[in-house]
Amino acid sequence: MTRSTTTRIGLLGILSAGFILGYIVACSNTQPEKPINAAENEETQLSENTTEPNLAASSSPVTAIDTREVYYPGTEVLGPNEMRVVACGTGMPNARPKQAAACWLVELGNGDKFLFDIGTGSAERISAMQIPYNYLNKVFIGHLHSDHFGDLDALYCGGIVANRVVPLEVWGPNSIEPKYGTQAAMDAMEKMLAWDIDTRMGNTDTRGAFLKVTEFPYDSVNNVIYQKNGVTIRTIPAIHIFDGCVSFILEWKGLKFCYSSDTFPNKWWMEHTKNADISIHECFIAPESLIEKQNFTPEAALNVGTQIHTSPAQFGKVMAETKPRLAVAYHFFNDFDTVPAILRDVRRTYDGKLALALDYMVFNVTKDDIKVRMAAVEESIWPQPSPIALVPPDPKLQRTSLSKMMREGRVVHREVLEKVYNDINKRFGSNEKVPE
Ligand SMILES: [Zn+2]
Ligand SMILES: [Zn+2]
Repeated sequence: MTRSTTTRIGLLGILSAGFILGYIVACSNTQPEKPINAAENEETQLSENTTEPNLAASSSPVTAIDTREVYYPGTEVLGPNEMRVVACGTGMPNARPKQAAACWLVELGNGDKFLFDIGTGSAERISAMQIPYNYLNKVFIGHLHSDHFGDLDALYCGGIVANRVVPLEVWGPNSIEPKYGTQAAMDAMEKMLAWDIDTRMGNTDTRGAFLKVTEFPYDSVNNVIYQKNGVTIRTIPAIHIFDGCVSFILEWKGLKFCYSSDTFPNKWWMEHTKNADISIHECFIAPESLIEKQNFTPEAALNVGTQIHTSPAQFGKVMAETKPRLAVAYHFFNDFDTVPAILRDVRRTYDGKLALALDYMVFNVTKDDIKVRMAAVEESIWPQPSPIALVPPDPKLQRTSLSKMMREGRVVHREVLEKVYNDINKRFGSNEKVPE
């Protein structure tokens, strides 16, 4: 369970109905009214000649402060009945430093982790959560727009060299023709990555260099596609620009997580996502912003912003009728000059609890509370060690080799390399020789 003090503060934040949770969290860098421990120390800090308390450095605390409204990845125990949802991509198809495209990480108190969509730019957000890649091997794709699966190759191949030694499992919908289905996309991705994958074979531990794909019918309603370890994941059809899109519903220990991927408001979402604990639904940028900032014509802005996607006003209506404990809007550039129009439109139809998502927003969900914070991210992190020991490259695997021309073009500084090899051998007790 997370720390009780922060949980209470989170609850207060959520109870502030009508506020934007994301903004509360992002902006409320809560500071104590006076330095912690100052009260107890006042007496001892009084100087002999004055009644003024001395609040100088000697009165500062030396213990950890557990009331900060920040999530530090890898530092918190997840309670046995707790769900943590991390926004690893909340923006638009063109990833930008502030926002990658769609990606949501769900971590459960039973140890399970799931990725829903993995849009362009999201791989680096995922890595920032400091989770061993072996545990990031289940990806559920809502549809095959690149802003929803554009970084799958980065997770697939990057994961191999970052110590994932299990295959990557991918679930995704079919479509009206096999060539538009997830299986076809994954087959094509493996072909695209032939150079990448084949050149790693025999050179490193490549047990993770395999895909396991489960394609399911996009048009099945409330279709169970995953059931294991107390977790059930179902799909409902989503209505976007073409057949082959789904939304996901994950249920575990009485908690209900719903994720739309991309969809126009639809009857299946309205029926099956009622009373969710956390309901993450696309909320496209307001049409006026497309016109003003991206030179869309009004016709194009209204088409994309209200017909292919869910507009903010429609998002509000969906949430007003499905009544989640917390509504989360994503799929827009979340800026000071876009939020006013989005909020204006959402609040025309919905007055419930709301978060306007940003990358690195973290939601801790339990039966009693939903706490929303931002993660503090370390940019210099390295991949985490594999929980399964790495093995040497499999000698049976065929290694790619350089052609005669490439071999003969190499300039080998043997004396320099011998020094490197000797240093390593000395330091690590190995006995490696510079190849001839
Ligand atoms: Zn889409
Ligand atoms: Zn999208």
